[in-house]
Amino acid sequence: MARPLHQGSRDEGLRPAPADVLRALRRIYPRERGGRADPFQTLVATVISQRTREESTAIASQRLLGRFPDAPSLAAAPVADVERLIRPSGFYRNKARTLVRLARALMDRHGGRVPTSLEELLALPGVGRKTANCVLVYGFGVPAIPVDTHVHRVSNRLGWAHSSTPEGTERALSAIVPREHWLEINELLVLFGRELCRPIGPRCGECPLERCPSRRADGGGGGRGRARAGGPKCTVLGELGSLVAPGARRGKGYEG
Ligand code: SF4
Repeated sequence: MARPLHQGSRDEGLRPAPADVLRALRRIYPRERGGRADPFQTLVATVISQRTREESTAIASQRLLGRFPDAPSLAAAPVADVERLIRPSGFYRNKARTLVRLARALMDRHGGRVPTSLEELLALPGVGRKTANCVLVYGFGVPAIPVDTHVHRVSNRLGWAHSSTPEGTERALSAIVPREHWLEINELLVLFGRELCRPIGPRCGECPLERCPSRRADGGGGGRGRARAGGPKCTVLGELGSLVAPGARRGKGYEG
């Protein structure tokens, strides 16, 4: 049986409103938002991030995009070269083939540009809903809700979703989160999920959210340190560092 996402006692009457939670998280993670990164680099980095640690994603993405920074160059790249460059990433052989196929599909179908519609993005090799939504949000500034492992877990703990799949969580969030918050919800919940509402040992004793149906009566695990303010600690685009445009430090993903 799958491990329950909700830990501690549950009282759905305690389910907080998304706008209230996001307002509280903005106070913890205050910084300017709204920047964008190059859509192609966002797409490539998000594919590389699948099943890969964030530090390894950063290294692999920088190596690959430093050598093949756009669709034309990556479409013509030898797969063996791509494998070597993204080797720090998990499943690098499969990803190398996928990335070259992806770049060729961009050349064949879209003139080397990244499409801006969800449907066209989902039709590309190696692109699932999380990746497509990341590209929409961080590459184009189009409202969407990328659901990575943190967004999935935190949303279920807060009672916003009751789903075992990221797709189900995305549907639930789309129904209850006002569209004006879609551009920020991924980043805020990723930061919160990494630092406070952690997968194991959520720091309920330090959590600023007043209403949570999964709050642990014992204050949760860990309790060491405090949430770090500011800074893109979590994001694919934050990890890309100098490869992305200044001010465009957002994003992050999960599977597909
Ligand atoms: S850390 Fe906060 S949001 Fe997460 S389970 Fe504990 S009280 Fe709920």
